[in-house]
Formats: sequence, C-alpha cells, structure tokens
Amino acid sequence: MKKKYFYKCMRKYSFLLLVQMILTAMVNFAIVRGNDIISTVIDELTVGNAVAFQAFLLQFLVLTAAGFVASFLQRAAASHYGNLVCTEYKGRVAEKLYKMEYSFFDNNHSATVLNKMIGDISEIISILDTTLPEMITNLIAVVIYAAYIGRLNFSLLLLLALCYPIIFWIANRFVKKIESLNKVYRQKSDTMTEIAQDAVSGVLILRAFGLEEVFRKKMRKAAEDLVDNEGKRTRISNTVYIVKWLIQWLPNIICAVYAIYLVKDGILSLGNLVAFILVLNKFVDAFIGLPFAFVDASTLFVCVGRIEEILSAGEENSGGETTPLFGDVAIRFQDVWFGYGRETDVLHGISFQVKKGENVAFVGESGGGKSTIFHLLCGFYRPDEGAYELFGRQFGAWDLEAAREQIALVSQNVFLFPATVEENVSYGNRSATHEEIVEACKKAEIHDFIMTLPEGYQTLVGERGAILSGGQKQRISIARAILKDAPILLLDEPTSAIDVETEQLIQRAIRNMSMGHTCVTIAHRLSTIRDCDRIMVLENGRIVESGTHEELMAKGGVYRRLYTVGPAGTIPLRGEEA
Ligand code: ADP
Ligand code: MG
Repeated sequence: MKKKYFYKCMRKYSFLLLVQMILTAMVNFAIVRGNDIISTVIDELTVGNAVAFQAFLLQFLVLTAAGFVASFLQRAAASHYGNLVCTEYKGRVAEKLYKMEYSFFDNNHSATVLNKMIGDISEIISILDTTLPEMITNLIAVVIYAAYIGRLNFSLLLLLALCYPIIFWIANRFVKKIESLNKVYRQKSDTMTEIAQDAVSGVLILRAFGLEEVFRKKMRKAAEDLVDNEGKRTRISNTVYIVKWLIQWLPNIICAVYAIYLVKDGILSLGNLVAFILVLNKFVDAFIGLPFAFVDASTLFVCVGRIEEILSAGEENSGGETTPLFGDVAIRFQDVWFGYGRETDVLHGISFQVKKGENVAFVGESGGGKSTIFHLLCGFYRPDEGAYELFGRQFGAWDLEAAREQIALVSQNVFLFPATVEENVSYGNRSATHEEIVEACKKAEIHDFIMTLPEGYQTLVGERGAILSGGQKQRISIARAILKDAPILLLDEPTSAIDVETEQLIQRAIRNMSMGHTCVTIAHRLSTIRDCDRIMVLENGRIVESGTHEELMAKGGVYRRLYTVGPAGTIPLRGEEA
C-alpha cells in the first residue's frame, strides 16, 4: 500500500515535535533537579549540618519559573504543530477533490466526503493537540525519571520495569476494542449525515410523497445505532479509567514497600527515600499513561485511514498538449465502447465525426447513452475501448484543463451555485466584464427576466438556484456557456424545461451562439434539431441511423417512428419530454 500522506505531513513538521521533546525534557529536568535539592537538604539536616535556606529557596524559585516557561512553550508548540499538520492535510484533501476521477462521486455520498473532511479532521486535530503531546510528555518523563530512579537505586528501577509488560498487555487489549468501535462510530455518523442531507435536499419529494415516516424511521435507526455504539465506547473508556487507576497502585505499593525496606537496611538514605517517593507518583503516572494514551490515539489511525481512502482514489489523467492540431475535424469517435465500470456496456462501438463548424444532433430514447457521449467528450470518463480525438489529438494527450477550455457544456442537470446571478454566469469566463455578462444574458434571452428580480444581477439564486424555474435556470446556464465562447458547444437537452414560446427565443439564441462554433445538441424537440447539418439516432448505445431531417424522414426507420410530426409540427410522440 502507498505511504500515507498524513504521516508525511507529520514528518514535515517533525522539528516541532523535537522542540516539544526538548521543552518537556527541560520541565522534567527542573523537577528532578528540585527533588535532588530537597533530598540533599534532608540528608544534611538528618546528620545535623547547617543548611543555607535562602540559597535553597532561590534555587527552587528559579527552577520553578524555568519549568513554568518551558511548559507554556511546549503547549504552544503542540497546538502549532496540530494546526500546521492539519492545515496541510486538509489542503491536500481539498486539492484531491478537484483532481480525482469523476466516477468517485458516483460511488461516494457527498455527505460522507464532507463528514470525513470536517468530522475526522477535527478528531485528528484534537489528538495532535492533546493526546500526542501527552504521549511525548509521558515518554520523556519515563526516560528521565527512570534514569533518576536508577541512579538512586538500580534494583528499584528493575522492580518497576517488571510491572511494565503486564500494564502494556492490559492497555493493548483496550486499544483493539476501542479502535474497532471507533471505526464503526465514524461509519454510523456517516450514515446519519447522509440521511440528514438526503432529507434536506430531497425535502420537496419527501413531503410530496409523504415519506416523512420512512425518513424518521431511518433516522431513528441510525441514531439508535449511534447511541448503542456510544454506550459501548463509554463502557470501555470507563473501564479503562478504573483499570488504569487500579493498576497504578501495583508499581506504587510494591516499590514503596521495597524502598522502605532498603532504608531500613541502610542501602537508601532518608533523603533519597523522600526524593524517590516524590518522583514515584509522577513516574508511575507517565509510565501507565503511555500505553493508555495509545487507547485514545487509536482514533487517529481510524480517521487517517478513512481520509486516506479519499486520497488513494484515482486521479484524472492529464497529458501535456494545450493546443489544437490543424485540420478540419473537431471531434472523432472511433469504435468507442464504454460501460461506467459495470458489466453491461452503455456505448457499443460508437463511431462518428464532427467537422469544425458543423451543427449535429443526437436523438434517441431515454437511456440510450446520449448524455454518456457528452461525459466522454468532456473527459469525465474515458472510453473502455476505442479512440476519441479532439481537434486531431488523442484526448489522452491533451492537458485536461486546456481540453475543457475547448468545450462549453450546457448540462442536462443544470447546476447553479448559491451565489448571485451575475457570479453564476461569470463562471463561464472569470475575466468577463459586467457588460459582457449582460450581453451573454441577452443572447440567452434571460436578461429581461433578470431585470425583474429584486436586485437584478445581484440577486442571490439560492442553493442550486432554488428561487428560479427550470427554464430560467436553463437559460442562465446557456448564458454561462455563451460567455465561455468555446469552439465546441455541447447542449444536453437545452430546451427540455422551456415552454414553446420561450423555446423559440432559445432557438434563436442557440442559432446565434452556434454560428462559427462546432455544436453538438442532444434534443427531443423536432424544432431544435430540424435544421441541424446531421442527426444521429442512438438506440441502446449504437448509432442506428444518421442524416438530415429530410433524409431520415424519407428513410422511414427509427427516426420517423420517433418523430411523427403533430399538428404544431414540434411535438415528438415519444421520448422523455417531462
Ligand atoms: P440518455 O442521456 O440517452 O438518456 P444516459 O447516457 O444518461 O442516457 O444513460 C445511458 C445509460 O447509462 C443508462 O442506462 C444509465 O442507467 C447509465 N448510466 C448513466 N450514468 C451512469 C453512471 N454514472 N453510472 C452508471 N451508469 C450510468
Ligand atoms: Mg441524458
């Protein structure tokens, strides 16, 4: 498996870990040194020597102050470390989202992705900020105190070390349990977020179809699962707390009894005994805290593992070529097969060619693969077999960004950002002036409507364009495409949500827009495709007929069956006109 990016980030700022270690060591040295002073004073007093109390107090004060400053700086270094690592990590995840293969979003719920980016990252921050410094502190403390105790009396240290395997073994049992519970906890919280997001974004359907009870049940089930898991986690962490507290007495009592015995035999001085007892508690705290800190830290592995799933997803391949080749062919598909990674193919060996400036259309029944062709044209997915050339270059050789600059897409599912009308249109060309934006909206026949909005171009459209009708959204997305002014225009059912009257306006807009451009339209309405240079009929992922409207009507095949002209001359009998 690939090296986890998170640990790279941790390593990158590891100098801050070093700083933390040095500062912690300083704190502990101050404590140990203080102990030494006390021990010496007691021993001097027991043999009846005079003690310079002023010097003793001053030394003590200086040590305390130094320890305090070091401790403060260590905390600051710890938070700084957590922030730096997580900022870098978050940045990497965000960048990845822009680069990863489009198909990732077919298989991953956006709520889960968000949950990982927000929930899991904040868990990681809290571990880097609290648990990790605790582990460092404990580790350093154990080493320094062990050396100190060893210096006082080596057999004491040996006795303490004997307790360690038992403590480690116990802690490790908890690590395993907590880790698996944490994994489940994160998954359940994904489920909760997914249900909540579905309920909010699907609120209209939810109410219209009376699905409140269904969702309530789903939500309750998810909440119960979460509470159940949380209960188990709490039980374990309570047990951990009690067990930790209980086994803390083990080294404490054994060593204290043994130390008193050593004093009685005259092996350990009274001063050393006091020093030992003072340090013993701190030592045992750190000693036991270390393996148990792993119990808390195990959450880190779970969260990092989940986020690395995002980071290990495949990225879009991008070549290096940024310019079209000479020639008169804009798009060429040669025997293209494609199936969204499933067993059954959606496109079955499609071949076609679109010349520069040509105006072609795809028609066919719903599910035939028309939008899929557009997905391939934009490079959201790559053909499983066969070749796709854009302006004479294999699509794979193109720099993706440059290739997409050649194409303006008006998608079947219009998406508007929760921003102003102006901003939404301006995404077609970020450097366009207000006048150019207005011009594009006029061409898309949406300008007059925008002027009736309370704040005109500065009106906020709401999430996904909530305040607009289907047709209005569609025209705004057409304005966005007009503004982009790319050589190739892809229109996926641009008139499906537009009434007959507006349609004629849009027809005119499309006609204006397609002049001087290569234009591929997917359409159902006869009026949209009637004037196209060529119409291709798609059936079950195969091009079954192609030609002009007149040629196809004369042929009397699939096309004629699809478009038996009604009285108005515009209404298809079949198709997905909803
Ligand atoms: P059309 O635009 O002609 O109505 P599409 O190209 O949208 O048809 O869909 C063609 C087929 O591909 C359909 O059977 C559909 O179920 C399938 N399909 C579309 N998008 C996906 C996807 N993201 N993952 C898997 N299958 C898909
Ligand atoms: Mg479609």
